[in-house]
Amino acid sequence: MLNIESIRRDFPILDRQIYGKPLIYLDNAATTQKPQCVIDAISWAYCNVNANVHRGTHFLSLQATEMMEAARENVRDFIGAESRSGVLFTRGTTESMNLLASSFSDAFIKQGDEVIISGMEHHSNIVPWQIQAERKGFKIKVIPVTDDGELDMDAFRSLFSGRTRIVSVTHMSNVLGTVNPITEIIAESHRRGIPVAVDGAQSVPHMKVDVSALGADFYAFSGHKIYGPTGIGVLYGRPDLLAQLPPYQGGGEMIKRVTFEKTTYNDIPFRFEAGTPDYVGAIALASALDYVRGLGIDAISEYESQLTVYARERLSAVPGIRFIGNAPEKSSVISFLIDGIHPFDIGTLLDRLGIAVRTGYHCAEPLMDSFRIPGTVRASFSFYNTKDEVDALVAGIEQIIRMF
Ligand code: PMP
Repeated sequence: MLNIESIRRDFPILDRQIYGKPLIYLDNAATTQKPQCVIDAISWAYCNVNANVHRGTHFLSLQATEMMEAARENVRDFIGAESRSGVLFTRGTTESMNLLASSFSDAFIKQGDEVIISGMEHHSNIVPWQIQAERKGFKIKVIPVTDDGELDMDAFRSLFSGRTRIVSVTHMSNVLGTVNPITEIIAESHRRGIPVAVDGAQSVPHMKVDVSALGADFYAFSGHKIYGPTGIGVLYGRPDLLAQLPPYQGGGEMIKRVTFEKTTYNDIPFRFEAGTPDYVGAIALASALDYVRGLGIDAISEYESQLTVYARERLSAVPGIRFIGNAPEKSSVISFLIDGIHPFDIGTLLDRLGIAVRTGYHCAEPLMDSFRIPGTVRASFSFYNTKDEVDALVAGIEQIIRMF
């Protein structure tokens, strides 16, 4: 059982007033708020251990390096990776997917080959592949999404061919809330010898993720969506696969030896961490993961599921509501439209009540096109949200409907 009242006191921003009303923050799928321990970790790191990592012989540099590597170990443990060498620090999911699409296609994808993604991907798991597809002349195949917002698994199976090189799909949709059958997707792919990359931006904050148990070959997530700072994220990769990939960016740290004639590259994970890394971000991310561990990811999952079910029930009674995303396996995200009112108007008017929701296409334009809608209103929940806040959301929407 989580003590939500006490948890809320850990997040200073939740005390804010917006237009004289208490903030009701329901935009957690975009980014989460930060507990005091994460804010303190950033300040502590700059006050106590700030020095560039991996290069210095002096005390501070060694200490900063140790802390960054301890953060890597912390992430490894959090996601159940087998070794630290498979945990790369990036700027976030977007950079993780760009790195992967670039280096993986350099190593393994040729003209005429195929990559499978899904119809519910965030732009960050579409566009990086498209950029490489244009450069290398490979093809992108898309798993269709059903009207309920699930992946069409029969269609998925029919997309494989002798030219398939990788499957890259999201674990959980940031628009529909659908939790995809990732174990089955990985099993189907591995049976054909195809590796799987998973966009875990939405899943890691809400459910237990164990990359080894899943058998994921690559798994990406963002620090800021799991109560950590912006500017830090992770790409997990199976070490034996990562070791076969060429670097993504060149510069300091990713090299073994540089001459004007030839440069040799560092081992993983450093080969993929060119330049000064965000070691303060890594240290603060470790603090965020410790915070989540302290609450317990299973307790978080359970509380958030109950809150999402409650919100869905309450919202169902709102006249003219249409939910986008009706999969049985859903978590923490509710997208909807109200008959005759533009999503943007709903978002703007809710904002005046202190309620932060997101409106628009949520960086998933092809998904919106497949539902033939211009966007949705999206409420996304965290463990610090309450039933009272859900009630305020419903009352706010009812008030807006009366106005219209
Ligand atoms: N994938 C999904 C499913 C997301 O929800 C997001 C963020 N909205 C991203 C990728 C991109 O994450 P970031 O902006 O942190 O790189």
